[in-house]
Amino acid sequence: MTTPDFSRDDLIAQLSWQLENGIDCALLDSPARPDSWQKPLTIDAILSGSAQKRAAQKIPQAVIQAQTQANDTPSQVKEAPAPAYDMPADRMPSPVASTSKAQPAGTATKDLDSITSLEALKEALSQFEGCALKRTATNLVFSDGARDARIMLIGEAPGRDEDRMGLPFVGEAGKMLDKMLATIGLDRSHVYITNLLPWRPPGNRTPTSEETQMLLPFLKRHIQLKNPDVILALGGSSAKSLLDTSLGILKLRGKMQEIDFGDGQPVPVLPTLHPAYLLRSPAQKKLAFTDLLQLRAFYDRLSPTQGT
Ligand code: URA
Repeated sequence: MTTPDFSRDDLIAQLSWQLENGIDCALLDSPARPDSWQKPLTIDAILSGSAQKRAAQKIPQAVIQAQTQANDTPSQVKEAPAPAYDMPADRMPSPVASTSKAQPAGTATKDLDSITSLEALKEALSQFEGCALKRTATNLVFSDGARDARIMLIGEAPGRDEDRMGLPFVGEAGKMLDKMLATIGLDRSHVYITNLLPWRPPGNRTPTSEETQMLLPFLKRHIQLKNPDVILALGGSSAKSLLDTSLGILKLRGKMQEIDFGDGQPVPVLPTLHPAYLLRSPAQKKLAFTDLLQLRAFYDRLSPTQGT
């Protein structure tokens, strides 16, 4: 067996280059064959043809246009009367905001609208070749939890563990999320979980605004099809995208706002701190706890007979 003549320092330099570029887990189950070291593995080779087969299938025009038009259409927020929830004034949802105009125009919106089930939406996403994140991710991470849950949790993007397992919030942040839910007497059977992005950004970097804008139409359709009674937005990226604002999470958290995601049925969105942030900054848990209490109070009002 011949091996390339790399020095220890060369190998360390190669590994740190890979780490800098977000390659922090093995792509293959066993080392690449020595002769393949002579020519770099291409993405096509790694995907062993399956992505190409999917790419060759006809991608719905809508999906392509959703991608190309998302950045062209400025988002707008419209004022509407405040709903009359029975909660303290400073915790009332703010007037209905609509991000519907942020939807890609024309055929794109119409075609995403023609997707009428969560399964079909997952399939459309799995065929979407417009986002480069798909090529570095191992799995599409669509959702987890109860399809009929009244609470929808929306995080930022899959991390390494989620990417490996194809499920959201299964790593350390997921364990923290379970603890957060437990503080208000809930568990995963009470919630439906997804993320802003269905593919892991390399090295867990923050998603770019291009990536979130490109995939936002899918998330909006996801919300419409899931039809939750309330959304808990986990962390700044999720809250900013859902509320269409540049304000930081410490300003947004704990204030419920009703958002129309394009179907004329406003959904209350409550931003809170991301579980991964709480792992890094445990002193902030008390802020998240007050948000969670608010969620629980809201949930109890929605379903007084289904209390846990
Ligand atoms: N962080 C997220 O935002 N989502 C996940 O699924 C995991 C970690």
